Amino acid sequence: MFDGREIFYYDSVARERNAIDTREFEPRPEPAVLRLDLLTNEWIAVAAHRQRRAFLPPKELCPLCPTSDGLKTEIADSDFDVVVFENRSPSFAEPAEGWTMADNEGIETEIHQAAGRCEVVVFSDKHEGSFANLSVQQIRTIMEAWRDRTREISKLPYVEQVFIFENRGEEVGVTLNHPHGQIYAYPFITPRTQSMLAAAQDYYDKYKRPLLTDIIDREINDEVRVIAQNEHWIAYVPFAARYPYEIHVAPKEFVPDLVELSAAAADAFPEIAKEVLTRLDGVFGITMAYIAAWHQAPVRVGRDSLGLHWQITSVRRAPGKLKYLAGSESAMGAFIMDLAPEQAAQTLRDVQL
Ligand SMILES: [Zn+2]
Repeated sequence: MFDGREIFYYDSVARERNAIDTREFEPRPEPAVLRLDLLTNEWIAVAAHRQRRAFLPPKELCPLCPTSDGLKTEIADSDFDVVVFENRSPSFAEPAEGWTMADNEGIETEIHQAAGRCEVVVFSDKHEGSFANLSVQQIRTIMEAWRDRTREISKLPYVEQVFIFENRGEEVGVTLNHPHGQIYAYPFITPRTQSMLAAAQDYYDKYKRPLLTDIIDREINDEVRVIAQNEHWIAYVPFAARYPYEIHVAPKEFVPDLVELSAAAADAFPEIAKEVLTRLDGVFGITMAYIAAWHQAPVRVGRDSLGLHWQITSVRRAPGKLKYLAGSESAMGAFIMDLAPEQAAQTLRDVQL
């Protein structure tokens, strides 16, 4: 790209891509930094430059549309299937030579460069639409892009965890409406993954089986929370869901990350993904805002205990009503749910496709 960032084209049919980014050079923003929150021993990335990001630009100025006569965008070509490129305002970026992660040295802990990588995954060259409405082939190509980027980013010595996600809807902070997702690669294991990892490792030590495998068995036996399944995947409302509409989609065969999925499982994903998201939109007959998050095992640890799964959470509890993370959830991390998971599953199953 014009400022030295990398861009990758993923096509369903092999073709040459050689469009040149002819925008005028602009220096890249200052890297973000990490500060340690000593109260919780958690790293906080401070990326002050992100305040200047584009905010909900109209279609005529969309930076994720293909380049056309009137508009030079982040993607130099005039059409594409799926494109991944480095984020222009990254929260985590390639560090200086010789960078190592700082240790907790109490009050003396230094501010540290936020090493890692942030990428944007553009799902389609069409400005309108959403993941659920993409074709099976298009979602399969996105899956291949996710797998390839996870594989490549996992090789970086300063990356401990690769997180792939999509925010949809202005309610959850989307700043660009063009269908897209993101990849964050962190130089540490995130707090949520640390706690999931500890639970999964305890379970594995006790029962010698991956926790997620037994959770899936329980869902298959209980039936009441299952929303959809096929030969390779199962979608269910988790037993202890945190959000009014929370859905987990997990491969039936345990794998630590997207890279390790079998080709057959990757092929079977688009159909169940489309069904689950279409059911979610059908609950209130409105476009649901959601966060779709791929939980993958960290790059170097927990790979036989922490299983890949896709977690979709929506803060919408009724048309015109959002679930806000209030006192108990925000301050204590203790969730209170006013909708039984079995009831949410029933509602999702009842949606007419
Ligand atoms: Zn667009």
